Amino acid sequence: MKLKSYAMGHWYEGQDAGQELFHAVTGEKVAEITSAGLDFKGMLDYARKTGSPKLKKMTFHERARMLKALAQYLMSKKDEFYKLSAYTGATHTDSWVDIEGGIGTLFTYATKGRRELPDEPFYIDGKPENLSKKGTFIGHHIAVPLEGPAIHINAFNFPCWGMLEKLSPTLLAGVPAIIKPASQTAYLTELMVREIINSGILPEGALQLVCGSLGDMLDYVDCQNVVTLTGSASTGKKLKSMPSILDNSVRFNMEADSLNFCMLCPDSEPGKPEFDLFIKEVAREMTSKAGQKCTAIRRIIVPENLVDPVIDAINLKLSKIKIGNPALDGVKMGPLVSKGQVEEVRQRVDNLLEECELVSKDFEEYEIISTNPEQGAFFPTTLLYCDDPFNKLQPHNTEAFGPVSTVIPYKNIEDAIELAKLGKGSLVGSVFTSDNETAREIVLGTAAYHGRINIINKDCAGESTGHGSPLPHMVHGGPGRAGGGEELGGIRSVFHYMQRTAIQGHPTTISAINIEWYKGAETFEHEKHPFRKYFEELQIGDTLITHKRTITEADIVNFAGVSGDNFYAHTDITSLPGSLFEKRVAHGYLVIAAAAGLFVDPKKGPVLANYGIEEATFIKPVYVNDTIWVQLTVKSKTKKETREGDIPMGIVKWDVAVYNSENEHVARAVILTMVAQKN
Ligand code: NAP
Repeated sequence: MKLKSYAMGHWYEGQDAGQELFHAVTGEKVAEITSAGLDFKGMLDYARKTGSPKLKKMTFHERARMLKALAQYLMSKKDEFYKLSAYTGATHTDSWVDIEGGIGTLFTYATKGRRELPDEPFYIDGKPENLSKKGTFIGHHIAVPLEGPAIHINAFNFPCWGMLEKLSPTLLAGVPAIIKPASQTAYLTELMVREIINSGILPEGALQLVCGSLGDMLDYVDCQNVVTLTGSASTGKKLKSMPSILDNSVRFNMEADSLNFCMLCPDSEPGKPEFDLFIKEVAREMTSKAGQKCTAIRRIIVPENLVDPVIDAINLKLSKIKIGNPALDGVKMGPLVSKGQVEEVRQRVDNLLEECELVSKDFEEYEIISTNPEQGAFFPTTLLYCDDPFNKLQPHNTEAFGPVSTVIPYKNIEDAIELAKLGKGSLVGSVFTSDNETAREIVLGTAAYHGRINIINKDCAGESTGHGSPLPHMVHGGPGRAGGGEELGGIRSVFHYMQRTAIQGHPTTISAINIEWYKGAETFEHEKHPFRKYFEELQIGDTLITHKRTITEADIVNFAGVSGDNFYAHTDITSLPGSLFEKRVAHGYLVIAAAAGLFVDPKKGPVLANYGIEEATFIKPVYVNDTIWVQLTVKSKTKKETREGDIPMGIVKWDVAVYNSENEHVARAVILTMVAQKN
C-alpha cells in the first residue's frame, strides 16, 4: 500500500516506488511512502488562498467549538488508530499517550479557547497605554492570525500526539497547517488525517498532509509561514539555516534532542518514600515507548554515597519489565520503531561506553518475548554508570534515543546543579526531595537551562502527571540543545501563530477597531437607561451620567456597622494625625456600593445579574460630606453560547468612573453583568 498525501483538496499518490516501511515487531512490510510529483508551492498557495480566509473570519470561540467537534469525532474512531499504532511497536499504554493524549490536547484547547480568548477573530493584548498628555492619542496591542500556512515537521515517535499538539494552537489561532509526519510511522498520521478530512469539520484548505519528503516546499516560505520541527538537532540546523528561512525571517520553532535529568536529593535515602518514587520513575521513563521519548530520563543524578543502592534498585525494577511483542501477555516494553533505529541507538551506546561502564545485564542475557525476535527492532534496557561526570562528558552530550540511561554521581548540591546544566539545555528535569529549601536551590539553579522542572515528594506523587508527559497547559520546549523552542503552555502557544501589532491613534478610532470602549473615546447618552436595554440594543460607548449623592458621616458609620470593617480611618478620628488621611474617610467599598446605588436601574429588566467586579481602584479619598457622581459606560460585549434551557444572554462589561464634586476621579471599576438577548 502506498501512503497518500492530501494536497489542494485531493488525495494524491506519489509518482515513484517510494521508501518501504516495516512493522516494528514482525518486520513485515507495512507501506511505501513517497511524495514525488506533489506541487509543493501550490500547496502553500492553496492554504493561503483557501484555508486562511475561512479560518481568519471565524472567532476564537467558533474555532474552539470546531476543535471540540473534531476531538469528539476522532475519539469515536480511536479503535482504528490503536490497531495501526501496534505496527510502530507501541504497547497499549504507549498508544494511549499518543492517541488519546493527542485528542485530549484538542479538547484542552477547545476549552481554553472558549474560556480564555474572546469571541472575536483577533485578540486584544494587555491594557491600553496612554501616549499623550490630553488623552487624545493612545496605544494598544492586538494579535491577528498569520496567513500561514504553518508547516509542522514531526518526529516518528508520536505520530498522532505530535501532529495534534501543534495543530490545536495553530487552528485556534486561525491559521491553516501542512503536516509532514516522519516517514517511519506516517501510516498512522495518514489514517488520522484521513479521518479528520472525512469528518468534514475543518474548512477546506485548513489542513494538508505530505507523506514523504517536503520536496522544495521550504524554498517558498515567507513571513506569513511558521515552520516547526520536532526531530534531531542536525535536521534542525539544516532547516533553520536555509536561505529562504533566514532571508524572510520565517518563524522557526525547534524541539530537538534533550539530555533530561532526574535527580535524587540527599534527604531521599533508601527507606524514604521519595527513594522508591525516584526508582519507579526512572524505570518507567526508560521503558515507556522503549525510551523513544524526547522527555525520557537520560541522566540519573544521585548522591555519590547512594550510587550502589540506586543501581541495584533500578536493575531490580527493570528485571521485572518484560521486553517483546506488546500483543503478548505480560510484555511491558516493545521494540524500537525500526531496525535502523536499533543500529542508531547501538552506535550511541558504543559512544557512551567509551567513557561509561555497563551496569545492567549484558545484552545477550535478555529474553525477548516474541515469536521471531530477530525480525523485530528490539533493544534491551541499558543502564550505564559514569564515575567522573565533570571530565567524562559523553553522558551530557550523547542522546541514545532508546531505553538507555546513565547514573551520574555528585558530591553536593552545587555540583548536582552544575551537572544538570552540563546537558546544555533540556526539555525537563525532575527532582525527588521532601526538603523544600533544597528544591528551591535546585530549581533556581537549573531553571535557566530547562523548559520544565518537576518536583516530586510523597505528598504529590500520587497525582503527579509524571516526568515524561508534556501537558497542554504547561510549556513544552527547552533552551540550547533542546532546540530553543516552546510549544503548548496553554494559550501561550496560540500566539506563536499570530502577529502582535501595536495600534496607535485617537481613543475613538482604537475603540472602533477593537470594539471596546476606551477613556477619551466618544460616548452616547440616550433617554433610555442602559439597564433597560437588551444585549443587542446596547452599543459600545453607551453612557449614563448619574445624579449626585453626598457621603455623610452616618453612611460611613452605618457601612462600618454593616460590613464590620472598623479600620481606624473610617471610625477613629483621633488616630488620623500622621496618617494618609485628613478627615474621616469613606470605605472604598462604600464608594463602589454607593456608585452602584447611583447607576443601577432597580426594576426587573434585561439585566439578569451582576456577576463580578474587575480592576477596582480607589484613586482619591472620599471624605465625609464629599459628593460623588458616576459615569457608567458600555466597555465591551460578548455573546454567550446558549445551551438548551438557558436564557439567551451576553456578558456586558461596564466602565464605572466615580467623580467628586470637583470632577476629580475618585474611584474606577469594571463591572460584569449578564444581559438578556431580545431574541
Ligand atoms: P529527524 O531525522 O531529524 O526527523 C525529524 C523530521 O524531520 C522527520 O519528519 C523527517 O522526515 C524530517 N526531515 C528530515 N530531514 C529533512 C529535510 N531535509 N527537510 C524536511 N524535513 C526533514 O529525527 P528522527 O531521528 O526521526 O527523530 C528522533 C529525534 O527527534 C531524536 O533525536 C529526538 O530527541 C528528537 N525528538 C525531539 C522531541 C522534542 O519535543 N524535543 C520530540 C521527539 C523527538 P523523514 O522521516 O521523512 O526523514
